Amino acid sequence: MSGARIIDGKALAAQVQEKVAAAVARLRLEHDLAPGLAVVLVGDDPASRVYVRNKGKRTTEAGMKSFEYRLPADTSEAALLERIRLLNESPDVHGILVQLPLPKQINPARVIDAIDPDKDVDGFHVINAGRLAVGQPGLVPCTPLGCVLLAKQARESLEGLEAVIIGRSNIVGKPLAQLLLKENCTVTIAHSRTRDLPAVARRADVLVAAVGRPELVRGDWIKPGATVIDVGINRVETEGGKAKLVGDVAFEEAKEVAGAITPVPGGVGPMTIAMLLVNTVQAACRQRGIDLPRELADLAGG
Ligand code: NDP
Repeated sequence: MSGARIIDGKALAAQVQEKVAAAVARLRLEHDLAPGLAVVLVGDDPASRVYVRNKGKRTTEAGMKSFEYRLPADTSEAALLERIRLLNESPDVHGILVQLPLPKQINPARVIDAIDPDKDVDGFHVINAGRLAVGQPGLVPCTPLGCVLLAKQARESLEGLEAVIIGRSNIVGKPLAQLLLKENCTVTIAHSRTRDLPAVARRADVLVAAVGRPELVRGDWIKPGATVIDVGINRVETEGGKAKLVGDVAFEEAKEVAGAITPVPGGVGPMTIAMLLVNTVQAACRQRGIDLPRELADLAGG
């Protein structure tokens, strides 16, 4: 087989964003509810600044309220925890996201722990991780939610498929494994100690790479016809000395073998922000005790 279908994450994210905007318009009209997302950035990491700006822009484009807090790099942990306490109490703020990574003096686990689990739109709080694990309603991390929707672009049902996830982080690999189990996949989680990773990967009908190693997954690791979701975002230098983004999958090789594949950029990345908007609407509705608008019923996790 030659020439996998390219799964267009930008187009899918735009569709999700449209649904969010329609849902928000109805919430404003019918319930006088404007979902609000607060994003906190500590320091001036250039990549984080771009992410935060994009999140704010998409939030307002969807008709929601965006609150941005830019704190200096030398902010103390106590000051950040105090900011979170205020946001936890604010009735206008339904979702809180603290952009990672944080400066050295701040312990990220303590910060995540301080966020009200019902406002934890990143889904990183241990309460939300637990809710996902046992199948209770909660907030699910955005990137894994996006991965499942992308995989469903290629396959109507994931039921019964072999899914292999390379990477076991708390923000991608582990929650994605839970979501794929919920889809009735047979799930394998591989990592840096996995023996014969290429052979494990070749079992996959759905292969997800969330590693952070440029082009680790080669064409001959892929089962012909497999759906390949590339979460990795790696900045590498081209021969001409310019920077470019590549995924964890060697795209040119992989697309000759796979049935469908997400590109980098333009695959998982745009979906992560789109799912953040969905999570914010979901958090707002739960806090007000109203049903999730029907536009978002098939999109929301947890
Ligand atoms: P982490 O560094 O937290 O986890 C990486 C995982 O990959 C670990 O489980 C590690 O194994 C495993 N790993 C590392 N090297 C190898 C190897 N050689 N073979 C097999 N497994 C390996 O990363 P994240 O989960 O946070 O992110 C992964 C990638 O996804 C990054 O490139 C990141 O930038 C990107 N990302 C993209 C997002 C998006 O919106 N598109 C959102 C979040 C992340 P072990 O546990 O054994 O160390």
